[in-house]
Amino acid sequence: MGREYDNHMKITFDSISENEKFARIVVAAFIARLNPTMEEMSDIKTAVSEAVTNCIIHAYENEVKQIEMEGKITGKKLFLRITDFGKGIENVEEAMQPMFTTGLKEERSGMGFSFMEAFMDQLNVVSQIGKGTVVEMEKEIGKEKEF
Ligand code: ATP
Ligand code: MG
Repeated sequence: MGREYDNHMKITFDSISENEKFARIVVAAFIARLNPTMEEMSDIKTAVSEAVTNCIIHAYENEVKQIEMEGKITGKKLFLRITDFGKGIENVEEAMQPMFTTGLKEERSGMGFSFMEAFMDQLNVVSQIGKGTVVEMEKEIGKEKEF
């Protein structure tokens, strides 16, 4: 059987804050072949940043563990999956509400998932307490360029 995607990548990196930038750069390089606009590029980088930051801060509570990032390109569609093996989310639906945060109100605005939802076409979050969280996102690149 042939591949049903054009390109695939999977990387694992430490849950340290400098890797927020690393993950953004990796994704930017990965999607370069799709010729994204500046806006698309910045939307995707922001979504990745939010997901990775959540792993570092919430899933692992600043302990250094592993974060996985997987990407797939199929035609003009980008698929991203960010996985941690941390504490998990008790109530995903509640966690995804705008302004919901379990963090300190002065540090966190509770808008991470809302940004991921707004900047990507699809967002899917699956979590298990004590096992970890999987965040999947999809976005079609070049939609605005058609007209
Ligand atoms: P902000 O992203 O605006 O700084 P925030 O991180 O609290 O604030 P969201 O990113 O929307 O806001 O996440 C909402 C809540 O979901 C978090 O406060 C946290 O309780 C939980 N959460 C999010 N991601 C994870 C994760 N990977 N593991 C465990 N809990 C998570
Ligand atoms: Mg967040």
